[in-house]
Amino acid sequence: MAVNLIVGNWKMNNDFVAAIHLTQQIGILARQADVSGVSLVVAPPTCDLRSVSSVIEADRLAIKIGAQHAYWEDGGAFTGETSIPMVKRLGCTFLIVGHSERRELFAMDDEAVAKTAMSALRHDVTPIVCVGESEEVRENGGHVEFVTAQVQAAVGGLTPAQRRDVVVAYEPIWAIGTGKVASVEQVAEMVAVIRSAWPDDAGDLTVLYGGSVKPENAAELAGTPGVDGFLVGGASLNAEQFVQIAVTAAKCYR
Ligand code: PEP
Repeated sequence: MAVNLIVGNWKMNNDFVAAIHLTQQIGILARQADVSGVSLVVAPPTCDLRSVSSVIEADRLAIKIGAQHAYWEDGGAFTGETSIPMVKRLGCTFLIVGHSERRELFAMDDEAVAKTAMSALRHDVTPIVCVGESEEVRENGGHVEFVTAQVQAAVGGLTPAQRRDVVVAYEPIWAIGTGKVASVEQVAEMVAVIRSAWPDDAGDLTVLYGGSVKPENAAELAGTPGVDGFLVGGASLNAEQFVQIAVTAAKCYR
């Protein structure tokens, strides 16, 4: 079954004190609001995972945790990396895989994305596989082909049973952190492209949209056919905005 998720990608923001504070604020606001039917996930920097999971447990907050990145090997001589079993032990049940910033700035290619997704599934961590085209690719009319290839490369090597546990986030690079939001038509088209690129029946696939999601545009985007939730960057650093996005989405999905 597709699930409704609102995922906050904090990127490289918030030390452990700020992370605890933001988690508590989100948890308290979400408790007072109506977010039923929608799961809230926060993805803090790796060094904050322990603090965030401790406060969620201590305050019994209805928030799940994701890691922003992890390496596909379980352990060994990989200086600077963190494995999926390591982040899982810190409370992560989700892993963002292949965010465009990882792909562009840290040379994460399709093969690394596929290996990471596979490793997450092996450890019962849900991979949120990010796909999306650059402005240049879109202007040249190659976006459908580009995203289709990204999807097939990421999940083509998985079994149908493994693919049932994958979440996909459509994040056009030109909409990330720019304030330029994809139109409903553009999002609907690309979500349909992702579903038709899926090697199996994509009826139960969870597809998120990400790219300058804010409380003001959340209703329209959540109402876009095929969109099951959001991956939120900037607005996830503000508890009021993040919870408001979740409230708006929850209303659309009920
Ligand atoms: C993101 O980084 O995944 C993202 C969608 O960022 P923003 O919401 O700031 O565009």
